[in-house]
Amino acid sequence: MNDIGARRYLSAPVATPEDIHRVQESLLSGWVAPSGPELSAFETQIALYVGVSEAVGLSSGTATLHLALKYLGVGPGDQVLVPTLTFGATAFAVTYLGAEPVFVDVDDAWNMDPDQTRLALEALNGDGIRVGAALPVDLYGSPANYGALMPLFSEFGVPVFEDAAEGLGGDFGGRKLGGFGVGGALSFNGNKILTTSGGGMLLTNDSEFASRVRFWATQSREDFPWYEHEEIGYNYRLSNILAALGRSQLERIDRTVARRRELRELYREGLAQLEGILVQEDPRWGRSNAWLSVVTFDLGLYPDAPTRVRLSLEERNIESRPIWKPMHNQPVFRGARTFLNGKADSVYSSGLCLPSGPRITDFDVEEVCSVISKTLGP
Ligand SMILES: *Cc1c(COP(=O)(O)O)cnc(C)c1O
Repeated sequence: MNDIGARRYLSAPVATPEDIHRVQESLLSGWVAPSGPELSAFETQIALYVGVSEAVGLSSGTATLHLALKYLGVGPGDQVLVPTLTFGATAFAVTYLGAEPVFVDVDDAWNMDPDQTRLALEALNGDGIRVGAALPVDLYGSPANYGALMPLFSEFGVPVFEDAAEGLGGDFGGRKLGGFGVGGALSFNGNKILTTSGGGMLLTNDSEFASRVRFWATQSREDFPWYEHEEIGYNYRLSNILAALGRSQLERIDRTVARRRELRELYREGLAQLEGILVQEDPRWGRSNAWLSVVTFDLGLYPDAPTRVRLSLEERNIESRPIWKPMHNQPVFRGARTFLNGKADSVYSSGLCLPSGPRITDFDVEEVCSVISKTLGP
């Protein structure tokens, strides 16, 4: 794991002997289709962990967002509120239903800004546009300000679906992320905090929501001996083998989150001496899972710092990554309606995601901090 020259990735997973054993057992059990005892148990255990009554294992976070918006009745002519600082999938899913994303800027904690959200809801309402849903995101594992956002959405009668793809293990006011609004989406993609290589999950307390999504995700197969379809279906279920991998990782989720948070504190300590460099902190309303440690640079003191640091780290075979490029600047969403305050642009231009996965050692953190210091130093 520590061989000299080995690449230090942003968030590479580890497979423990137990993970491998569990996948092997699942393979040998014959339950290789996207149903089976591992999948059911994984759903039950995640629901218990997050504190919701229903969970449906799906093939990806994106598929989860797609079917959730379908259940909420989002369709052509509707607009859906999406924070502009997010991964593209949040907004892509909106377009699958023929609806349009409206991009709302972020607050100081980098999530959907309540003030801009109110402006957006008032403006869209005034224009007689139906807001089909709102998709707050828990960026880099940090909770959105649900205390301010939820009353706002209920005031305007807008259903909320939480994109908690990055948020498993974080909390808002002690309540685990993923269960806010009418439901939430998790992602188990490659470098997420719990990964089944690919996968996702719907979380909700609405049993009708869960059963409709489970049905659509299983090719809308009616209860007949033959394949009978009254509705269009999707092949969106999570495989039983991957669920076995997920269950194994879920058993150590608390340790995983603790280590990610520890890495973030090590970066904070390692960079404390340098003026104008900040590591993302928890918001006052909750705790991040610290999926990724993200640093921002004072561009007045260090012009072009994110690019310079990223290239210096790359020379040492250390991966780092720019912040998600805001959706309102993405060519594919040119012309979308926006409610901006400049914060997403400023976070994007000044920030950098540092290596944060379970393979990163304390020594790696020291090295990253020293590369940053040397790159930006006098
Ligand atoms: C990863 C991610 C998704 C998509 O999840 P997949 O499982 O990769 O489809 C959606 N939203 C956010 C914020 C993400 O980070």
